[in-house]
Parts: sequence; structure tokens; C-alpha cells
Amino acid sequence: MNYATIKKHDVANGPGVRVSLFVSGCTHHCPECFNAEAWDFQYGDLYTPETEEEILKALDHSYIRGISLLGGEPFEDANRRTVTELLQRVRKMYPQKDVWCYTGYTYDTDLLGWIREGKEDVLPLLSLIDVLVDGEFIAARKNLRIPFRGSENQRIIDVQTSLRQKETVLVKEYIL
Ligand code: SF4
Repeated sequence: MNYATIKKHDVANGPGVRVSLFVSGCTHHCPECFNAEAWDFQYGDLYTPETEEEILKALDHSYIRGISLLGGEPFEDANRRTVTELLQRVRKMYPQKDVWCYTGYTYDTDLLGWIREGKEDVLPLLSLIDVLVDGEFIAARKNLRIPFRGSENQRIIDVQTSLRQKETVLVKEYIL
């Protein structure tokens, strides 16, 4: 996997101060994407064990609330394994910090659909995520005033409650 950027004090992509990893590669190609250079899976730098150590070290501050994964697309086939392994280590080392993930796929149709089809590496990744911001960016529904989203179709989903209750549960404070 390649990645575009690591932000060590990100306040835009989830609550509090966060460490954000922008992975490379995205097949959605949303018109007016904020990060079109990262559609290319070869964009940026190779994600190495040293990269992972850098992220884990950046999380090691009491003022860091959690980690956010963005892209590009963390849920692409080529990226899932690496981000899953990262989050497994984050969970182990920092169980008190929260995990947000942005995806252009939709939770109930795409991601749960893949699980039903037998893709074995989707549920393990979802199981490590607290909050999923889902859906492609739709330029006609762009709204810069809503927190943590680019367009109004995107939802902020409580993943663990959704998995438990077998329905899509949104985080109440962010429902439009
Ligand atoms: S899913 Fe995100 S990164 Fe991918 S094209 Fe859409 S806005 Fe850009």
C-alpha cells in the first residue's frame, strides 16, 4: 500500500485532535474530489514498518483522541489488509482512543454486501472501527457547514452498534 500523507494534529476529520492517515488508491473517482491525486494506487510513499511506527508514536500523547483513516479509499481490496493490521495494533496499544474511517462505499449495500458475498477481510476491518463516514462525495450536495463530511449524502455511522443491532445506526449528534 502507498499513502499520501500522515497528519499528526488533524482537527478536521473527526472529533478532537487526531492522527490521520491518507492512503493512496481510490476507484470511486467522484467528480470534484478533494484529493484526486490520491486515486492512483502508486501515489505518495510506500507504507513500511517504519511508517507504522511513526503513526503509533504520533498517537502516544494524551491530547490525541484517536486515529482517522482517509484516502484515497481504505476499503479498496489492495488496502484493506494493511489498514486492518495497523488498526489491530492501535487497538492493542491504545484501547482508549477511537477509530474513524472514511469510505466512498456505503455501509449497508457495499460493505455488508461484500460480507454476504464471502469477502473474508471486510468484517475484520469493520470490527476495528468505531465510526464510519460513508458514501461517495456528491458535488451537487456539497455542504461545507456540516461537520466531518463533504456532502450531505454522507452518513456518520456508529459501526459497533450497527453490527450488533444488524441495522445502520447513525451517531446521533451528527444526524442532519
Ligand atoms: S471516495 Fe473520496 S477520495 Fe475517492 S474519489 Fe470520492 S471523494 Fe475522492
